[in-house]
Amino acid sequence: MKEQLLSLNSIDGVEVEINKDLKKFSTMRLDAFGDLITVKNLEALKLVTKSLTQKNITYRLLGWGANMLLPASSTNPYLQLDFDFDRTIFNNPQNEYVLPASVSLATLTSHANKFGLKGWEVFTGIPASLGGAIFMNAGTNLGEIGTLIKEVSLVTKDGVEKLIKIDSHSFSYRHNNFVNPGDVIYQARLVHFGIDEAITKKIREYLEMRTRTQPLKEWTCGCIFKNFQNLNNGITCRAGLFIDIMGLKGLSYKNLQISPKHANFMENRGESSYDDVMMMITVLQKELKLQTGVSFETEVEH
Ligand SMILES: Cc1cc2nc3c(=O)[nH]c(=O)nc-3n(C[C@H](O)[C@H](O)[C@H](O)COP(=O)(O)OP(=O)(O)OC[C@H]3O[C@@H](n4cnc5c(N)ncnc54)[C@H](O)[C@@H]3O)c2cc1C
Repeated sequence: MKEQLLSLNSIDGVEVEINKDLKKFSTMRLDAFGDLITVKNLEALKLVTKSLTQKNITYRLLGWGANMLLPASSTNPYLQLDFDFDRTIFNNPQNEYVLPASVSLATLTSHANKFGLKGWEVFTGIPASLGGAIFMNAGTNLGEIGTLIKEVSLVTKDGVEKLIKIDSHSFSYRHNNFVNPGDVIYQARLVHFGIDEAITKKIREYLEMRTRTQPLKEWTCGCIFKNFQNLNNGITCRAGLFIDIMGLKGLSYKNLQISPKHANFMENRGESSYDDVMMMITVLQKELKLQTGVSFETEVEH
């Protein structure tokens, strides 16, 4: 497969790196190696996806790696986008924005903060690429990114462009209903709900609150478990609260620790591997099930 991947280097706007150290490619900084294909423009993306599919090579999209646990070594290559675009779009507020999937949410938050874009406060503090955030319908208790998206442009695994018009069925909780396996989101059209000076204060206060309550400076993958909605009584069971009540906050295993700041976060305090994290997740899941009767699902992808 190595030769097949390396042959993609002949496409303009493609860089293939074999057996790359991917530690810095996920926010949890797990020890991970794999083949990485970086794609810099749409034409290259169409050629790469089509070529990989024709060769029966399954690829995995990698955004900011903020919701992914990378295994120590992966047989399938990772695909990452790095599209250039005209950043002067951020010099002034626009009515709408057509942006590449590779732009970071931090860039968008900083723009929203500067000009008071109403609606954009919903993704304050979420580490993500725009593509990864759309895939996950990322959000906070202020709302979800899906409410701001009007269109999503994809390339399918066969290298075909597809435009998705977003409607009320396109997103659900931390989920999109339109990306099929092998589809790559490369661009999206976003709107806001007007200019409101109060947004700047809202973003600042929300960031302060997050910094106080979550381990944002540590190496984590965000929340480990999804909260559980009890359909019988409508009550939301918060995994972090249960882990805390069970006295497991601060629990350590090798270089991993359940965050003393927020029990649904796991901090990597040194050299940790995928297997270490999975071991800790399994222990927590069993303990949670035993104590609460609830089978908590992981939010992080593994
Ligand atoms: C400290 C911390 C705090 C967090 N807080 C929150 C929070 O408040 N709310 C929240 O919702 N999440 C939160 N997260 C989780 C994470 O930030 C989100 O899930 C985010 O959407 C992941 O984006 P990403 O670019 O890192 O995607 P990745 O983790 O790289 O990928 C996530 C999924 O999206 C797919 N994907 C990525 N890019 C594309 C693309 N271009 N086309 C198709 N598929 C793609 C990947 O294959 C994968 O399946 C937090 C994480 C951390 C580390």
